[in-house]
Amino acid sequence: MPSAESRPAPALVRLRDVHLSFGASPVLKGIDLDVFRGQAVTIIGPSGSGKSTILRCITGLLRPQRGTIEVDGTRADLLSSERDEIELRKRVGFVFQQYNLFPHLSVLDNLVVAPVRILGRDKASAKRTAYELLEKVRLADKAHAYPGQLSGGQQQRVAIARALAMQPDLILFDEVTSALDPETVGEVLTVIRELVRDGMTCVLVTHEMRFAEEVSDAVYFTESGVIVEHGPANRVFHAPANPRTREFLARAT
Ligand code: ADP
Ligand code: MG
Repeated sequence: MPSAESRPAPALVRLRDVHLSFGASPVLKGIDLDVFRGQAVTIIGPSGSGKSTILRCITGLLRPQRGTIEVDGTRADLLSSERDEIELRKRVGFVFQQYNLFPHLSVLDNLVVAPVRILGRDKASAKRTAYELLEKVRLADKAHAYPGQLSGGQQQRVAIARALAMQPDLILFDEVTSALDPETVGEVLTVIRELVRDGMTCVLVTHEMRFAEEVSDAVYFTESGVIVEHGPANRVFHAPANPRTREFLARAT
């Protein structure tokens, strides 16, 4: 019998044979995906191939018609009450292309409102955490600014800090730099790079191929709702086994 220490840890996120259709159109056609604690996993692939749909399944926002989705042992495909949905969403941070900050709240209050209302934290301690997180994303001096006064890159860093304020088990990043001016992309990637280094579990959808190669433990290439290929970043980027991956990377880089 293997000892507890030698037994491999189960995946934090585990998708098996996930099938999802919108009406009559199949969008995910048998997705298998594993994310282990502390890993950064990147999903790449053409537009419309199902990348965002996979992320929305992991948050429980979408339910597949077939297959299983486990997040830290919870079946995200079988949540039976609103309370279970809220519990799952507390554990999975989500950062989108559109930062969706609350425009009428200061940067600080954007970070405080959910920990107080949803986690029941007291306001003073939520504020302390918010200041620490703003320090981490290098925006401590903007605590009292409003989102409209910030650049796109700064707003996106606030959105990342806001996700972190919920102390999630993992964070999903869906093309978070796609809408930014080129000169602010780097500052957002720097923040994500540091999170990965600190051991935050991350699932990234990105078109920044060099960044993906640098930070990812594993890369999944999707096309038409199928995972065509996956493996260590180094291998997928430099020796893709599938001709479709090769073609995509040749065009993307
Ligand atoms: P990606 O993120 O890789 O660009 P998506 O996961 O957003 O792709 O979309 C995959 C496919 O599913 C696309 O063809 C898209 O048009 C379709 N789709 C996504 N969301 C919906 C929806 N809510 N209703 C109908 N079709 C959708
Ligand atoms: Mg998408």
